[in-house]
Amino acid sequence: MHNSLSERDQQVNWHPYTQMQTAPPPIGIVRGEGAVLYSEDGKEYIDAVSSWWVNIHGHAHPHIAERVSQQLHTLEHVIFAGFTHAPAVELSERLLKLLPANQSRVFYTDNGSTAVEVALKMALQFWFNQGINKTKIIAFEGSYHGDTFGAMSVSERSVFTRPFQQYLFDVAFLPVPVPDQEEAVLAQLEKLLAQEDIAAFVFEPLVLGTAGMVMYSPEIMDKLLALCRERNVVIIADEVMTGFGRTGKRFACDYLNQEPDLMCFSKGITGGTMALGVTTCSHQIYASFLSEDKTKALFHGHSYTANPIACAAALASLDLVEAAEFQENLTCISSSHSAFVKSLVGKPGIKEIRQTGTILAVEFEVDQTSYFHTLRDDLYNLALDNGVLLRPLGNIVYVLPPYCITSAQLNQVYGVIEKMRLFV
Ligand code: PLP
Repeated sequence: MHNSLSERDQQVNWHPYTQMQTAPPPIGIVRGEGAVLYSEDGKEYIDAVSSWWVNIHGHAHPHIAERVSQQLHTLEHVIFAGFTHAPAVELSERLLKLLPANQSRVFYTDNGSTAVEVALKMALQFWFNQGINKTKIIAFEGSYHGDTFGAMSVSERSVFTRPFQQYLFDVAFLPVPVPDQEEAVLAQLEKLLAQEDIAAFVFEPLVLGTAGMVMYSPEIMDKLLALCRERNVVIIADEVMTGFGRTGKRFACDYLNQEPDLMCFSKGITGGTMALGVTTCSHQIYASFLSEDKTKALFHGHSYTANPIACAAALASLDLVEAAEFQENLTCISSSHSAFVKSLVGKPGIKEIRQTGTILAVEFEVDQTSYFHTLRDDLYNLALDNGVLLRPLGNIVYVLPPYCITSAQLNQVYGVIEKMRLFV
């Protein structure tokens, strides 16, 4: 008699963001198709969070599988210093055509955290290479940009960062310009920018994911960015979560008039097939690294930088992003979310409902003192018991579905949220 995957896992693996002593056994998944995950004990789960927001086209997409398979038989990897290959060249060419017009170069890494890490290094070295002393970074309160040290530094200080606090660099945090705070935040930014040493502003455009899908308007972001532009502050848009359709347009920055200097991507870029991160930049940023002096180069890179299989997966994912039905699917999910939001308005148990494109968040009204810390796990288990994978953030449950999700599956997800409302 063989032990289950779940049992074997518990002997050898250490899972992310998991208290291994008290967490329930992991669920062994043997197969995925479309929006559904199939477990070793015969259960099915609708992946309503696209497995940490990456599987934008659903699981085991045949077009991506085919392209990756071809690439595996052609070139699996080659060092990316001094060498190049077709998937990286083609991916950069195609990506740059979709991004704001000022984006002119692509730098490859392995995940969202390192895409941000590279953007921070580029912004700081942009000033350093010019001999200008600008070293301070502005970020939004509540933001999450990853868990490497630089990315942690520009993220909300929390239990995630507490043990490392003394090693994180100092950042100026700005409140999120949610609707009733817009003017105050503008004034606060203006004050911050009066300091001479502000190097860059890093932000999650339109939606702060890990903060609980906190949303703000493109209009206010444009105003904040216009101020940064006036004061020569490098603008870094972290589109790791919002990129590739999440907000209803291809990129959240497509809602903005201001163009960022640097952009970070990962998650949806390969449709969840391979780990890949990308930082893109304007010519102005790139040009500051060009010199006869070799020490002005960007000293950053990873063994797997621009892995051809990851790039091939991203190219296949881009085919799907550029297909006509992509936008139709986004619109369909957005309208479906909007109808559900309407149905919830005024119902007991609901504190706030937020939506931007395919991103939906429902914040439940709960008594913070009595019940708050067990609530998240109760809601998580309630969803699993009903065949849906949702990962609540405290009293906030959010939906970021694969774009191939069917109406019936979406209705099942909404049904679970309705059950949660009655439960809290
Ligand atoms: N930036 C944003 C906005 C994110 O949401 C995340 C992950 O959730 C990251 C960066 C870090 O990405 P990764 O988990 O791939 O390192």
